[in-house]
Amino acid sequence: MDVISFCADLIACKSVAPNDDGALERVAKFLSSLGFETKILIFQSPNEDRAIKNLFAKYGNSKEKILGFVGHSDVVSAGDGWDSDPFSALCENGFLIGRGVADMKGGIAAFCLAAAEFVKRPFDGTVEFFITGDEEVGSFEGVQSLIKWAAENNLIPHDCLIGEPSSDARLGDRIYLGHRGSLNVTVKSHGKQGHSAYPSNYKNSLANLCKYIAKISDYNWSYENKKFPQTNAEVTLLFADNCAVNVVPERSSANLNIRFGDDYTAEKLEVVLRKEAEGFEGLSFDFLSSGEAYYCDNARLKNMLSSSIEEVLGVKPSFSAAGGTSDGRYMIRHCNVIEFGLPDSTIHQKNEKIKIEDLKNLEKVYFSFLKKYFA
Ligand SMILES: [Zn+2]
Repeated sequence: MDVISFCADLIACKSVAPNDDGALERVAKFLSSLGFETKILIFQSPNEDRAIKNLFAKYGNSKEKILGFVGHSDVVSAGDGWDSDPFSALCENGFLIGRGVADMKGGIAAFCLAAAEFVKRPFDGTVEFFITGDEEVGSFEGVQSLIKWAAENNLIPHDCLIGEPSSDARLGDRIYLGHRGSLNVTVKSHGKQGHSAYPSNYKNSLANLCKYIAKISDYNWSYENKKFPQTNAEVTLLFADNCAVNVVPERSSANLNIRFGDDYTAEKLEVVLRKEAEGFEGLSFDFLSSGEAYYCDNARLKNMLSSSIEEVLGVKPSFSAAGGTSDGRYMIRHCNVIEFGLPDSTIHQKNEKIKIEDLKNLEKVYFSFLKKYFA
């Protein structure tokens, strides 16, 4: 088995959550053949309408050094416009093409193959896998449940490597040490309906809302910790249930997504948003946090990973906390976290692809990292 054919096997599974379509069984079978203990865990959503499969695997029993590899086997749906079957990997002109090849079945395949080579010789420590099935849709029955189970069973690693696509223009140029937090906000505006020709008879909920959104879009966010990109709030939806051109809407709403560095927490942002609403009539809020900002500045992990990258690729990586959030936001509560994987330029797009050479080299980087970690 080589990394390309293993990755192709995983791409052939239509693992769009909540479906797994055999992806985790495929990984479990491979790891079992190497001597890993494997366990498929199914976690149910609170209202029991969704069951998500996850995989935990472990090689070794030493508590001296425990390294966890964290990844997700689920992918976003294919969408339209592909030039080939998204769930049948295609090798063409030096590229491997298929849904999830970069995000992140390539990363899983590369770490599995690196581990296969590594566990052939004795080492003092334990390698663990945490592969989840719902990262693309909130991680509720995935890593959040899996890490809770691991804590209850004394299986928390000391450090974890997240195999998400972290590289930018070329493989090895970027390692993520953290990510900004993310807060979703729905702002509802309640006014009074009326004919647009009679201003004294109505209160325009939408105009009120637009002024507030403009104020938040221009807000001067504090920016003390320059490790993160500056906080930004983006309006992602404006809604008024009103088709008539001359009716002023009574109700309207807007969605905001705020990405924030550690100058803020979701709670602090709520305070800011409510404070800025003073003087606006009829606004109310719903808040949904999808994770706080985190940053893990662990010198040992940084040194081992960057020197592995330099050895294999001749590239000196930068350390960043940009990009979308990952399951690192949950792992950081339990252990050190570092994130490194393939280039991200085609993720969640049609014709998602990676260079075949990159996949082979990623396996080599992971192998070198394993050697250094357990040295
Ligand atoms: Zn991903």
